[in-house]
Amino acid sequence: MVTVVDNDDVCIKLADAYLTNGVRTPDGRMIGDYIVQNTVEKLQFYKKIFGVEKPDKMYFEMYSDIEEWRDYYRSVFKSEPPAYSRGTFESKKSLSTSVQHPRAVYGTSMWYKTVCTNAHEAFHMFYKKYCYGEDRIVWFDEGLAQFFSGDSEDKIKDEDSFILYFSRFLADYKPINNLNERIQGNSSVSDDLIFYREGVFNGYSASFLIIWYLYETKGMDYIIELMKDNKRIRELGEYVLEEAVEYYKDKYSMRSRENQ
Ligand SMILES: [Zn+2]
Repeated sequence: MVTVVDNDDVCIKLADAYLTNGVRTPDGRMIGDYIVQNTVEKLQFYKKIFGVEKPDKMYFEMYSDIEEWRDYYRSVFKSEPPAYSRGTFESKKSLSTSVQHPRAVYGTSMWYKTVCTNAHEAFHMFYKKYCYGEDRIVWFDEGLAQFFSGDSEDKIKDEDSFILYFSRFLADYKPINNLNERIQGNSSVSDDLIFYREGVFNGYSASFLIIWYLYETKGMDYIIELMKDNKRIRELGEYVLEEAVEYYKDKYSMRSRENQ
């Protein structure tokens, strides 16, 4: 790992591959440069939205080898990481560790995941530390982390991308009535409580849809106020997924197909 930034606010370490990959980008910079830029910019933004002038210093380590990262996870948490997991954080140390794709192609979903993963984990750290404490609502936290970090930019960069994302989501969407209770975890969590399991429930996709819907219909200030109100968030959790789905079905006239 190479330490690419280390100042009062932040320390970022990257596996060599992020700095030597040679993947083509419009301005010729390495993916590692984009990672640093996005991390630093988003930390500034989080300071603003959480109203924290001098947050604790944050540490980021990005691996390029999945097995190396999984070993790290086992050594710290004494358990198996969820199969889909590519990042985690230790609140006490303000340390985010993750594994992404040094050779991601510019502009693809993998690119945004890689460039924005630090900002995604940093959002979780800020939100917990400076707002909700122990009372985490997974769907809202995950929706916001995707929304603010930029890691889902591929879904919203233009209308065609959004329609593609929404159609895919709709294709295996089954309405659920316990969004607030859904939690992350490995195979020990049952299907009816899992937040993300392929073929069961895609909580990431669902929660991003909800936040995007709230942003589009109510705006950024509404979201930032809502973040402080877990009671209201849980009320929304009872119905907002269905509401967002209906809204976009109407907006993109996807309703006709199911009436035929
Ligand atoms: Zn997350």
